[in-house]
Amino acid sequence: MATPKGKVSKARRNARRSAHWKLSMPGIVKCPRCGKMKLSHHVCKACGYYDGQKIVEVEEAK
Ligand SMILES: [Zn+2]
Repeated sequence: MATPKGKVSKARRNARRSAHWKLSMPGIVKCPRCGKMKLSHHVCKACGYYDGQKIVEVEEAK
């Protein structure tokens, strides 16, 4: 089995992990209209808007 050639310092290990949070983020943005989290390049499920236009009808009343 492969063995590490040398010790990875805490600084180097932490620097490597500092980019990990991005992995869960791609494509997830805040909706500019309602402020909820939505998938980028997708119609917002909460308000039904995309690119400033209403695309789908959403039932907001409960
Ligand atoms: Zn929205």
